[in-house]
Amino acid sequence: MTPQIARVALPVPLDKQFDYLIKPEARPVIGGRVRVPFGRQQLVGIVMAITDKSDFPLNQLKAISSVLDHQPLWQPPLFGLLTWASSYYQYPLGDTLANAMPTLLRKGREASPASLKMWQITETGRDQSITSLKRAPRQVQVLNTLRNGKSSHESLLADEVSTATLKTLSDKGWIQAIEEKPASTDWLRDFAVTEEKPRLNEEQALAVATVNASPEFGCYLLEGVTGSGKTEVYLNLLEPVLAAGKQALILVPEIGLTPQTINRFRRRFNVPLETVHSGLNDTERLSAWLAGRDNQAGIIIGTRSALFTPFSNLGIIIVDEEHDGSYKQQDSLRYHARDLAVMRASRENIPVVLGSATPALESLHNAKTGKYHHLTLTRRAGNAQQARHGVLDVKGLYLEAGLSAPLIARMRKHLDAGNQVMLFLNRRGYSPAIICHECGWLAECKRCDAYYTFHQQSGELRCHHCATQRPVMPQCGNCGSTQLNAVGVGTEQLEQQLATLFPEYKTVRIDRDSTRRKGSLESYLEAIRNNEYQILIGTQMLAKGHHFPDVTLVALIDVDSALFCNDFRASERLAQLFVQVAGRAGRASKPGEVILQTHHPEHALLQALLHKGYDEFAVSALDERKQAFLPPYTYMTLFRAEANNSEHVEQFLQQVRGIFESSPVYNHETPVLGPNPAPLSRRAGRYRWQLLVQAPNRKTLQQLLAIAKPAIQLLPLARKVRWSIDVEPQDLT
Ligand code: ADP
Ligand code: ZN
Ligand code: ZN
Repeated sequence: MTPQIARVALPVPLDKQFDYLIKPEARPVIGGRVRVPFGRQQLVGIVMAITDKSDFPLNQLKAISSVLDHQPLWQPPLFGLLTWASSYYQYPLGDTLANAMPTLLRKGREASPASLKMWQITETGRDQSITSLKRAPRQVQVLNTLRNGKSSHESLLADEVSTATLKTLSDKGWIQAIEEKPASTDWLRDFAVTEEKPRLNEEQALAVATVNASPEFGCYLLEGVTGSGKTEVYLNLLEPVLAAGKQALILVPEIGLTPQTINRFRRRFNVPLETVHSGLNDTERLSAWLAGRDNQAGIIIGTRSALFTPFSNLGIIIVDEEHDGSYKQQDSLRYHARDLAVMRASRENIPVVLGSATPALESLHNAKTGKYHHLTLTRRAGNAQQARHGVLDVKGLYLEAGLSAPLIARMRKHLDAGNQVMLFLNRRGYSPAIICHECGWLAECKRCDAYYTFHQQSGELRCHHCATQRPVMPQCGNCGSTQLNAVGVGTEQLEQQLATLFPEYKTVRIDRDSTRRKGSLESYLEAIRNNEYQILIGTQMLAKGHHFPDVTLVALIDVDSALFCNDFRASERLAQLFVQVAGRAGRASKPGEVILQTHHPEHALLQALLHKGYDEFAVSALDERKQAFLPPYTYMTLFRAEANNSEHVEQFLQQVRGIFESSPVYNHETPVLGPNPAPLSRRAGRYRWQLLVQAPNRKTLQQLLAIAKPAIQLLPLARKVRWSIDVEPQDLT
C-alpha cells in the first residue's frame, strides 16, 4: 500500500501547505485538526487534503503526531468561505483558519463541551484546614481559588494546576465537577414568541414579506432612519426562521452590542441566545462556538468575528449598521465582515439583510445596480419627529474652546429649558499641539511624524500614534522661551471651558480616555439617562446605538476637519455621523435640533446633506467618486511597508511597482500609484510608505495580485521591511 500523506495548513506566515505522513492507525479528516512537528515545535494545523503523492521524498517527511478531530471543524460552506477569504484578502491559509478558531481550539483543546468543565468546592473541601496541607501547595491553591467561587478547568490549568492535582482533590471528595447542562438540541420544541408584537406599518410589512418570500440567497439592503423600526423588521424576519428550527446570526458594530439590543431578542423569543464579542474569555468563546455548531443556540449576536461561528443549520444573517467601520478588520486577515456575510449567505443559500440609516456608498451602489434588493423605511415608528438642523457659519467669529457665541446661546436656551445638550468633537486630549509663542516651535514626537497631544489632566504630552508619553517640557526646545501655548481644541479643553461657561450644569466627557475602565461607559450612559449630566461631550463613540430622549440639541463642533480631510471617505463618515445624531436627538414631545459649525457653509456635499438628505448626499458623493475613479467604481489594494530604514521601504515598494507594471494584466485601467510616504510618514521610529493599486473590477484586481504576490515574496527586501496587503482598504493611513 502506498503511504498516505496529509497536506496540512499551518499557522505560519507562508503561502504554502506542508506534507506529513499518516501513521497506519491514524484517521485524520479533511477540515479537521492535527498536531504536527514543525522545526522544533509542535503546531496545530488543518488537514486540507489526503493524498498519496508528495513533491518531497517520502523518507524526508515527518509523521503527524496526533489527530485532534474526527469530524471537520466546519461544514463545507464555511470552510469554503474561509479558504476563499484567505485567497481574496491575500492572507496565508493556515493563519486565516487559525484566526477563525477560538483560541482553545487553536491550542489543540477538544472541540466538545468536555473542554468547558467547571469545578466547585464541596462542603468537606470547605472544612479542610489549609495548615494540614502545607506540603501540597497546589491543592491549597485550588481550594483557595474555589472557596471564592467556581472556576473553569481551563483557568485552573492556566494557573499551572495540573490535571492530576484536580483528580486527587476530586477523588478525596473535596472538589467536584459541576454537572454539565444536559445537551439538548431541542430548543425548537419550546419555541415561542414570548411578547406581544406591534402591528407592522406598511413599509415594514413589505420589507418582511419581500425577504420572507424566499428562503434562498438574496441580499437585501434595509435603509431606514433611526427609530423607523428596523429592529422590529429583524425580529419579524427571525420568527419564521426560528419556527422552522433554523438558526440566526446577527452582526452588530463593536459599540452596538448593548444589553438593550440583546434583551429585545431575548424578550421576543423563547430561544437560547449567545453573544460573541471581544470581552469573552477563552472558555466563553469556545462555548459560544460550540453552541452554534451543536445547535445549542438559536440566535447568535456578535461583533465582526462572530461571522466565523459555525452553525448546524443557519437560516438567515443580519448585519445591523452595515456602514460601520468596525466591520473591517485592520490587521492580520483584513476582511470586511459585511462583505463576507454576503459571501457566506450566498454559499449557505440563505437571505442576508444589511440594515442602516446611512448605508455605505458601496452598498447603495450595489442596490442601485440591482445586486441588492433595496427596501426602505421612511417613517419613524410612533410619532417621533425628525430633528431640525442648520449650519452655523463661524467665519470671523471668536471661538471659545471651539464654541461660537451663537452656539453658546443656543446651548443655554436648551439647558435652561431642562434638556440635555450633546457636543461632538473627534479629538481627544486638551489640545492637539503645543506651540512656542516666541518662535513657533511645535513639540513633536521623536519617534513619529506627528505632534504631541497635550493632556492637561495628567500633565502629559502623549503621542496618539506610538503611545509615547512624557511630562510637559518647561521650555521651548528651540529658543528656550517658557511661553508654551496649547493650539487647537480637544475634548478635555472643551470640558474645562464648559465648566466655566455653564457652572450650574454638569458635563460628562465620553471618549477613549474617560472610558478606559471596564464598565465605565455603561455607568456613564446610565447616569446620562438619569439626567445626572446635562452636557455630554463625546467623540463618535457617543453617536452609536444610544438613544437619549432628553437630548434636544446636538452640535458638531468642527465639521471642516472632515470636509477637508485627505481621506476620500471622510465626508461619507461625516454625513453618517450627522444622520445618526440627528436621529437620536429628541422625541415626539421634544423635537431636537442639530447644529453644524463650519467655515464653509456653501460646501456642496454639506448643502446636499442638509437640504436634501442622506440619499441626495449619496448621489452627489457617488458622482464625485465616479469622476475621481474611486471606490465603488474602482477596486483598490493598498500595500503598506515600514522599516527603520526609509530607503529600504521606498525601494521595496518601487520594486513592487515594477512587478505590477510588468504583469500581463497591467494596462491603463490598472494604475499603480506611488510609492508615497504614508499620511503618517513615521510611526514609532519606523518610516512608512504606501503603494496603491487600482483596478476596474475585482476579478482584474485579483488576477494582478495573484501574479504579483509570489514575485514580491521573492524580493530580498521583502525580508528587510515589514509589509502588508490590504485588499479594499477602508482606511488609507
Ligand atoms: P430602529 O431599529 O430602526 O432604530 P426600532 O425597531 O428600534 O427602530 O423601532 C423604534 C421604536 O419603535 C421601538 O420602540 C419599537 O418597539 C417601536 N416600533 C417599531 N415598529 C413599530 C410598529 N410597527 N408599531 C409600533 N411601534 C413600533
Ligand atoms: Zn509617537
Ligand atoms: Zn521657541
